Amino acid sequence: MLHDSQCQAARLTRRELFGLLGAGAAAVALPDLAAGAKPIEFPKKAIIRTVLKDLPPESLSGGATLFHEHLSLAPDFMPRWMAYFRAQNPPRGGNGAATPPPAAPPSSEPYFMQDLDLMTDEMHAAAKDGAACIVDGGHPDMGRSLDFLKKLSTKSGMPIVASCGYYSQPFYPPEVASMSEDQIADELIRQAFNEPVGAIGEIGTWDVMTSDERKVFRAVSKVHLATNLPIFTHTNFGKGAIEQLDIFESMGVSPSRVVIGHVGGLVDPEVKVHKAICKRGAFVGFDRQGGAGDARQVPMVMALIDAGYADNLLFAADFSNGQQLKHNGGPGYAKTLTLFVPKLRDAGVKEETLHGILVDNPRRFLAFVPKKSAKR
Ligand SMILES: [Zn+2]
Repeated sequence: MLHDSQCQAARLTRRELFGLLGAGAAAVALPDLAAGAKPIEFPKKAIIRTVLKDLPPESLSGGATLFHEHLSLAPDFMPRWMAYFRAQNPPRGGNGAATPPPAAPPSSEPYFMQDLDLMTDEMHAAAKDGAACIVDGGHPDMGRSLDFLKKLSTKSGMPIVASCGYYSQPFYPPEVASMSEDQIADELIRQAFNEPVGAIGEIGTWDVMTSDERKVFRAVSKVHLATNLPIFTHTNFGKGAIEQLDIFESMGVSPSRVVIGHVGGLVDPEVKVHKAICKRGAFVGFDRQGGAGDARQVPMVMALIDAGYADNLLFAADFSNGQQLKHNGGPGYAKTLTLFVPKLRDAGVKEETLHGILVDNPRRFLAFVPKKSAKR
């Protein structure tokens, strides 16, 4: 909630935000916008590309941007995901690191990610919970519909960033196996210049990196260099995180334009891998928040903040489970803000730090200066 003592600039920003969202109610989970929060500077002509229009990064300063969620997936995506996951990851006992992601959604029709009215209500609820923008991590091989995202953004007022890419080995379309690195890059560059996509992601290694996945990671690096679009990744609970970053860097991608994803699942109180990623200048994604893993991840986030890496943290929920919708009595799309962030507050994280992580870091990640030419 905003307080009267806060500066005029912050209040104007919030007012602008609500104008943008068409939401009338106050956010309840948004970290206070401290009057002394450090200013953030973006490159000249940098924009955040949403499905409806390019936005100045400053326009999203009044709320959190959730950098990795799912608003549009094929109905069979999560059942397939769970089947592959169970085949590859036998259950771990005791206090093991792996907590399986949400169960497959119920099979009742229509699938919630195809229900425009329901999802519009969920977006309004997320806005009230403090979300100013949501990044969708899907692309065609996951059944993502740009048309649905545009309709959802139009109807709900929620700014939505769509992505492009290929997901991971089990989900690649068959032609990826025979396509060259440059052919994959050319196809994604074509999408980037012809569709309103504002990021490349989620780009995954399903488990140990396969040769096709390596090819896609190298191609994605070329797409970034041709477009300046930022990149966010999927790892199997942090496996191969350094290898992913190694490929990007070897191809000339600045780590500052990359989020290595799902590393919250790499449970290590000493956060060695996480620190190594941060030290190289990339973001670490704690992006399955608002659930059972929070208790293990709060100390890791604290350790990274204490080590001076607050500017490298990004939070989200990877939302994909219909049972967690507000409609079904769950916490909804902004559960990172309503469930995880309070645990960090209780652990002593300052409001200014939370504001930096939730509001500033995702805008620094997403803001890019578009390139005009489609040529590599
Ligand atoms: Zn995801």
